[in-house]
Parts: sequence; C-alpha cells; structure tokens
Amino acid sequence: MAPIDMKAHSCQHCQRLVIDLADSRRRLRDLGLERRGGQDRVLFDVTIGDICVADADGCSFCTWLLDAEGEVHGRPLRSTLEARGGHTGMEGSLLMADRSPLGRIFRLTYFWLWDPASKTVVADIKCDFEVYADPDDPASPSVLTRPIESSPASAAGFARLRSWLQECRANHDECRKIASLGLVSGAAQPTNAPARLIRIDSVRGDHVMRLVTTDSLEIVPEFVALSYCWGGDQRLKCSTSTLASFMTEIPLAQLPPTLRDAVLVCGEAGFDYLWVDALCIIQDDVTDQTIEIAKMPYVYGGAVFTIAASRCSSVEQPFLATRSFGLATPPAFTLPYRCEDGAMGGVTLVKMGPAPEPIDSRGWTFQERLLSPRTIEYGTWQTRWICQESNWRMDITDGWKRDADSSPLRQDTIQCLTFDDDDLRRMGPLELGRHFRSDWQYAVQCFTGRNLTMPRDRPLAISGIAARFASKVDVGDYVAGLWKPYMHSNLLWHIAPDRIVARPTAYQGPSWSWTAVNGPVTYLQIDWEIFTTPANIALDIISCHGELVDPHAPFGALRPNSARLKARGRLVPVREVRHASAEPDSPGARKLWQLGVDFPMLAGARHDDVFYDTTELDQDDAPAGDQMAGPATFLLQVVHGLCRDTWYCCGLVLRRVQSNGPGDDPAESPAFKRVGAFFFRETRMEETRIEGESETDWERRVDLQLDWFRDVAPTEIEIM
Ligand SMILES: [Zn+2]
Ligand SMILES: [Zn+2]
Repeated sequence: MAPIDMKAHSCQHCQRLVIDLADSRRRLRDLGLERRGGQDRVLFDVTIGDICVADADGCSFCTWLLDAEGEVHGRPLRSTLEARGGHTGMEGSLLMADRSPLGRIFRLTYFWLWDPASKTVVADIKCDFEVYADPDDPASPSVLTRPIESSPASAAGFARLRSWLQECRANHDECRKIASLGLVSGAAQPTNAPARLIRIDSVRGDHVMRLVTTDSLEIVPEFVALSYCWGGDQRLKCSTSTLASFMTEIPLAQLPPTLRDAVLVCGEAGFDYLWVDALCIIQDDVTDQTIEIAKMPYVYGGAVFTIAASRCSSVEQPFLATRSFGLATPPAFTLPYRCEDGAMGGVTLVKMGPAPEPIDSRGWTFQERLLSPRTIEYGTWQTRWICQESNWRMDITDGWKRDADSSPLRQDTIQCLTFDDDDLRRMGPLELGRHFRSDWQYAVQCFTGRNLTMPRDRPLAISGIAARFASKVDVGDYVAGLWKPYMHSNLLWHIAPDRIVARPTAYQGPSWSWTAVNGPVTYLQIDWEIFTTPANIALDIISCHGELVDPHAPFGALRPNSARLKARGRLVPVREVRHASAEPDSPGARKLWQLGVDFPMLAGARHDDVFYDTTELDQDDAPAGDQMAGPATFLLQVVHGLCRDTWYCCGLVLRRVQSNGPGDDPAESPAFKRVGAFFFRETRMEETRIEGESETDWERRVDLQLDWFRDVAPTEIEIM
C-alpha cells in the first residue's frame, strides 16, 4: 500500500482548529445554532482575529480561508476585510463548518463566520473538502475515506480483488440472481456464448495468448470481460486477415497497454479466459459483428466479472498505471480530530473537484456496465468493486471515497431488471409499467448523453439493455428504441434544445425514434397517470413495425426506410412565424405561438414549448411569414388531459413528405416525418371555477377550453 503524498499543510495555528463534533454540538446548542435533521456542524475555537494572525504568520490553511470565493457574500473574505479596514466590529466571529449531510462519508461543504454579537453570518465559503483519515489514525473508525492509493497493481490491490469476488460469489444473493441471466459459463454449447475467447497461458512466467472458438470446447469456461474506451481505431484487432494467426498466437508485444493490463488482472484473479471485443469479434465481418453484438447481454452478463478501464480514454493508456497529481497537487490541510472517546487523531481536508471517468462519456460502455453482474472499476482516484450489493457495503474501494462522483451519464444498476417473480406478482401491471417506463427512459437519457464514434451504432449500443428488459418483463415488442405497450409515452422524447445537431445523412432509424437523430434525449415531463387513463390517449396507434437488418439481432438496427408507424389522430396545420424580437435562446426550442398556433390559452401559459429534433429545420425548412403556399407542418396530438391539477396537451411536430417510399401505394394514408415534439402544460387555477359549478363540470369545462384539437376530425396517417 502506497498512498499518494498529498503534501498536506499543518502548523501550530492549524493545531488549534480542532474538529470536535461532540463539543461542537454542545456549544452550538448554547449559541442556538443547533440544526435539526441530525447533521453535524463543526464549531472551531477560533475567531476571525486568530485567522488573520495565522495568515500573517504563514498558515496556508488560514490564507486559503481568506482568499477563497464566498458563495452568498461573493467576494473573498480578505477583500471584505480590506474594504472594512480590518476586522473591527466582528472580532468575536467564530469559524464554523458544515459537514456533508451524507452521514457515512465525512465531507466539509461550507465554512462560515458567525458573529454572536449580531447573530449573523458575516462570511461564507463553499469549500467541498473531501476528508480522509490514515488507516491507523484514531479518527479512522469515524472517517471512512482513506488516502488515495497510488498503485492499482499492488499485491494488496489484487488480493482485495480476489476477496471482493470471493465474497460476492459466495454470499451475495442478488448478484447470483443477476449473474444467472448471463447463462453462459459451465453450459455445454449454448447458442448465446461468445464465438471466441482469448486463452491465456503462462509459459515460464510470460503470458502466451491465442484465440479459441467456444464450440471447440466441451463447456464454455469461466471468463473475464473487458470494458474500455477504444479511443480511435485499434492497431491490434481481429479481422478476416488476422483471425487465422490469432488462433495460433496473439502477439503479446503488440498488445496495447489497456489490453496488457487486462491480461494481468485476469491472471491475478485466477482465470485463463478473457473476452475483448476488438480481439474476439471479426471487425471487418458484418455478419460476425451483428451476431456477436446481439450476444452482449450474455457476454457481459455471463462473464465472472468485468474489468472497467474507467480512467483511460484510449486503449493506448494503461489502467494499472501509478496514480499521481503530477505538479497539480490540490490544496490539502491536516487538522486535529477529537474522537468521541476523547482520543486525539488527525484528518486531512482535500479540495478536489469531481473526476468524471472517461469511460462514462462513451456510448458502448453504458450497457457493458449494466449488463455485468460484477465489475472491478479502475478509476481515476480509486479501484472500486461494483455489484448488486455494493451499494450498501462500505469496503468496496481501495480507500478513497466510497461513493462515485455523481454524473448524469453514470448508471450502475437498473431497478426493474432486479425484479424477481415474487416482485412481479406483487406489482400490478400499472406499477410495473411505471417502473418499466421510467427505468427505460432514464437509461435512454444516460446512454444518449454519451458519445459514439459511429453515430449509426445508436440502436446497437443499447440493444443489450433492450434484450435484458425484454427478458425480464413481458413488454411485448420493441421497435427502434421504443416499446409498443408504452408507445405514447415513449414517442414523447426530445433532444435538449441547446444540443441539437443536423439530421444524420446515414439512416439510423425511423423519424419517430430517438435512434434516428443524435444529441442527448430527454422526455417531456408528463405525469405517468396521464398515460394510464384511456380517455387521455389521443392517438390511436394502428400498427408499428420495421424490418430488422438481421434476424439474429432482434433488438438491433432496422433496414433503411422500412419502419412505419400507422396511426389515427388529430392533426392541426401550423406555420412558423418569425419574430425578430423574440428569438429563442437556442435553435432547438420555440414557443407554440411561434408556430402560429392561434389559441387564447397559450398566452401566459407556463409551458408551451416546441422542441425540434435537428438543426436543419431552422435553416432550410422554416417558411417565413405568410409567403408559404400551404402549410406543410402539423401538430399531432398524442395525449391530453388533467392530472393532479395540471392540464397537458402534448404530441409530435410532423412534416408532410412527398411519397410513402418505393413500393408504397400513393393512394394510402398521407406520409409524414417527425421533426419535433410539442409540450403544452397549464396548471388549473382555483379562481377559474364558476360559483356553484361542480368539480366534475369544472374539469370538463377546463378540458374542453384547453383542447384546441377538439373540433378536428381524426385522420389516418403514416409516419416514416
Ligand atoms: Zn496552518
Ligand atoms: Zn455482489
């Protein structure tokens, strides 16, 4: 074990800044500053005067306190003092700190100065200090974070991996349940086994590797999978030209650093077989790619564990490399800590920002993490064990920060995939539907916020998650990222308005699917109950289908222009009105009135937004003013209704297209493509109720008043 040297400052002045929670509680109670909710504050026995003296004497912690940016008061404390000509009038102000509301991890979030005379806060500093204790320090039982381990490849690190794995396999019921979904290892010739594995032998201390086909083995052996960022094209990969030689030997000398480290971890964990996509899938054979990608749920799900090379943005980086700050060591200060039993220890405060892991920005690695029952993550600042039960266990890192830095792109579990038969029986279809819809939409949001080198991989790189959803609950058919039983809510996606990009030139999916466009997907904020009340559903979906590129990949891509959504619904023609004075903040967002929707209730409505899916509509398609020959843009209502005092009217923005495509009968239903979604939401207000009107009558009246689609006759259309 070799912790990184944080070069933490400490001096005689710092020795007076004792973190003493028990004493703080008592003294804060006396000052009337006790806070409810069980959070701990730290009250230091130090005034602003002491801080100024220590600063002048070279205490870098007090210097940091004076120079840090305030949050509420804005400018640093030092400039406040300079403006006042010193600390006269606030001499008695005491230094305090707020600790993180999360009890198990000790963090200091704010420092502030409290003036007991005026009973006011005279300064505040948002600090977000991570707090750690050395393992043998008396403070260590109450401060769970340890110093950053510099060497992920230490003998102790590998021993920890073996013990995490052993404990998980032996004692974690949830993990065994999830692992059984993989159904590969130990089985004789299952069709879902990966076609090839890398066999690793040790010959006189050196690794010797070759590809083996799983159908040449009696049973599928236990294997380890790797999840990593390619970071561009791979110099070593399996192809039709290298396959034969890889079956004899994979040249170790040419192995890029990430893969070399994976071989080492695999061996240290005691396994002889490794699965790496670049080496186990024939990269220039489309059929092999399609078939093997469709097996991802079984590859990552069936691996004993997955190695996540999270800290590396490219295969050319070694994830077992020594961790260090280089020259940019963050500010760190060691302060005394008095334990509950009175023993004196010490803790170190470190000012570190969040460290998003490179792997969390990549599209393919999203499902690799979620499909894996067990993951050993080699992160920027810690090695972490992730399994179904790691959420409520403490000893899951090599020391540094038990919890991962939160990120909207990171998701370690999907709740509805852990439901067992008892859970499913207990939940009715409505509750299951609610879980299913929200879990799927959340997964889509995380996934689409990430980057794909090949945007056309969008439907593929989440296909493993889709397969897992389909295996878990009876959800009927899946089409291009949408689920038929939840079609109405699944259709109401949109792209974050400031992140829309041009429509891809290569086909990625039908226009009504988020797979068709790029940019991060989000969903209109509509109460789930709107969708579960049949009267609210305005769009009658007649059929929805597409031809798969390959039947081996039922959750994979669709053939170009093969998908159709046939529906019966109400269409309102609109045209965009350009108002120079009212340009929206971003090209992807408009207001309904900017589409010329002439409806009195829209004036002053809280939400009347139109979200475009791509940028080109703005440049090429948007007709100006009245010069348009006829309206080509329409709003299609999908849902409308009242729920919890909020009235919703939401749907799609469609454009007419010339023909239904080759082979289609032009006399059939008119064809459209989706270009966006609209969202109208208004809160029902008490004052609109007429005296003597019953609640039901009132609801009906408001509903009629707000529904500008009411007088439109439904028509049958096709969306391509
Ligand atoms: Zn000091
Ligand atoms: Zn486990």
